[in-house]
Amino acid sequence: MTARSRPWLAGLRPYRPGSHEALEAGMLASNESPFRASATLPEAITAAIGSLHRYPDPTATRLREQLADLHDVDPEYLLVGNGSDELIYLLTWAFAAGGSVVCADPAYQLDVITAQVARAEVHQVPLVDWHHDLTAMAAVEADLAYVVNPHNPTGTAHPLEAITAFAGSSHADLLVVDEAYIDFASVDSALPLAREGKAVVLRTLSKLYGLAGARIGYLIGDPAVLDVLRSIRPPFSVNTLAQAAASAALGDTEHTRRALIATLRNRDRLRDLLRSHGLRPVASEANFILVPGVDERRFVGTAADLGVAIRPGTSLGVPGAVRITVPDDAGLALLEPVIAAYARDSPGVTEV
Ligand SMILES: *Cc1c(COP(=O)(O)O)cnc(C)c1O
Repeated sequence: MTARSRPWLAGLRPYRPGSHEALEAGMLASNESPFRASATLPEAITAAIGSLHRYPDPTATRLREQLADLHDVDPEYLLVGNGSDELIYLLTWAFAAGGSVVCADPAYQLDVITAQVARAEVHQVPLVDWHHDLTAMAAVEADLAYVVNPHNPTGTAHPLEAITAFAGSSHADLLVVDEAYIDFASVDSALPLAREGKAVVLRTLSKLYGLAGARIGYLIGDPAVLDVLRSIRPPFSVNTLAQAAASAALGDTEHTRRALIATLRNRDRLRDLLRSHGLRPVASEANFILVPGVDERRFVGTAADLGVAIRPGTSLGVPGAVRITVPDDAGLALLEPVIAAYARDSPGVTEV
């Protein structure tokens, strides 16, 4: 056998997941929800076991109807995927393979990896003041533009007016607005652009809804765009148990509301805690905070010693920074001594 992988895969830097080697409340490297999913899930999943001998509903009919209600769009404007990561793959294959993609630098890792796999040229435009440089990105001719709003790994967001202006001026043929963290943001969603066919909007249940392990993401946009993705997708990628879990989670709006309030409250607490030790976190509109200007190896090491996993910036394209997921109260209690110990041993950091 002389298997030879395609030559353009040679330089690929594979996706690097965050560490899960930590105490339960200290898993703060992957922007998961610190809260368990809705208590309605066990019953819904148990009921779905009864139909596991059948293939899943390839179009996730029930789930799309719920999402259509939630977002006030026709179900035809919705495509559910095995996490948004599957949808990013499909978008890149269908609309940029052999062509070109424009995205930020640093970008969400998958936007770059999928482009490299599909042999698309990647134009990365450096951030300005931790934000997408939308003006510079708009000038780039590309088949596909990825705007992550709020951005990962920085947590910064652009108002809808700026995204709308970008949609009008961009030299890219298709605009994808990845709104994985929009639930935590003060800015408005680009959904109006999706309804008008000027952008496709990517959402996930992996963050606010606490379903990272179930793998549910979805796209909202022009049915003509989604039809192309449907025609190339693996038909049964979203399994029956995940569809049931997602439907139950979406139905428990009170649980979701409480998770959001607790996350926003603890984001403020985490920001204040960092500042009180002289650190300068980037103002975040997401469920994580980027802390630049640190010795990331020592910060990550100090955290690991105390049972806490946080993300080193180098793995996210921001050397000299750490990214910390907003924890629950128990996680915040674990973080306090980490931040204090790090700051105590840092000559550059002054207590304020
Ligand atoms: C977490 C995240 C997602 C969600 O991915 P899933 O595959 O739905 O879990 C998408 N985009 C960005 C930028 C993210 O950070």
